Amino acid sequence: MAASLRLRGAASSLHYWSRRRWPAMAGLPAVCSRSMASKTPVGFIGLGNMGNPMAKNLMKHGYPLIVYDVFPDACKEFQDTGEQVVSSPADVAEKADRIITMLPTSINTIEVYSGANGILKNVKKGSLLIDSSTIDPAVAKELAKEVEKMGAVFMDAPVSGGVGAARSGNLTFMVGGVEEEFAAAQELLGCMGSNVLYCGAVGTGQAAKICNNMLLAISMIGTAEAMNLGIRLGLDPKLLAKILNMSSGRCWSSDTYNPVPGVMDGVPSANNYQGGFGTTLMAKDLGLAQDSATNTKTPIFLGSLAHQIYRMMCAKGYSKKDFSSVFQFLREEETL
Ligand code: NAD
Repeated sequence: MAASLRLRGAASSLHYWSRRRWPAMAGLPAVCSRSMASKTPVGFIGLGNMGNPMAKNLMKHGYPLIVYDVFPDACKEFQDTGEQVVSSPADVAEKADRIITMLPTSINTIEVYSGANGILKNVKKGSLLIDSSTIDPAVAKELAKEVEKMGAVFMDAPVSGGVGAARSGNLTFMVGGVEEEFAAAQELLGCMGSNVLYCGAVGTGQAAKICNNMLLAISMIGTAEAMNLGIRLGLDPKLLAKILNMSSGRCWSSDTYNPVPGVMDGVPSANNYQGGFGTTLMAKDLGLAQDSATNTKTPIFLGSLAHQIYRMMCAKGYSKKDFSSVFQFLREEETL
């Protein structure tokens, strides 16, 4: 009985918004005074591979932007199109009461929030601060506490989908934070993604993201190993991929992002592993999974091994290549 009540509670608190499922909800009604002023400027900090196209999608939906990146060239495009470029995160917070951050690591995010010229220096009461970087869930929780002390709201909303989905506005957002603020976050996130899922308390968006990427890393290594073994056994790689994709070994790494050059067009393996999701970022995400597993005493045998493999790849010059270059890494290892 208690278990069924808990289950019912969990189901009712689960929010899942999809533009494809409910197109009429694309322009969600405002739920608080902040989001009622729906086309007031939105702050955006971190305009790299992901942040650049995400910010552009907000512009396409009519939101004026206040932007900042520590690397001034990243802001140039936005300056050219008339957006306001400012010189610190504190300046962004002075001019906008909704801010999205898209930064590489936990350390960068702490700096942008709590540094000498960070967001917290000037944040206005009632502001909504959404961090879409992939960072440590424990850091997200700490930041939320700091933000709350200033009378503002913090939500973690990491993304899945990569640069292609960021450009087409089809990212998946995994959102953690105060449930009452979810609709206000959706209003902005729905401009950049086709799926926006509420995961629970602050930090749970990061938790979902870390679990997904650990599984992705493991499945990518598995796909690369299976493809490599098949090739060694004399199979044509395209035929092998076709068979895997009709069989129980099929996964995203085999059917959508195959790591073997020549098997698929339009993926990093077709372009010398340029673009896509960098090996350094995958190694970082696996480090976050490793830390979380240690903190929660959770066994992650394959996750730990995947972490070591991606760290080794970084040490051997693969850090800037897409993470599917693990196939190339295996090929080079076998010649040793
Ligand atoms: P990126 O390195 O291309 O961009 C990060 C941007 O942040 C850069 O322009 C950098 O100059 C800026 N930056 C760094 N420190 C800063 C600071 N202190 N103040 C202001 N700006 C600062 O990274 P990315 O690929 O856009 O990834 C961003 C986040 O999204 C990462 O956490 C990553 O794990 C996650 N992510 C990336 C992908 C992908 O395919 N690239 C997919 C899903 C999630």
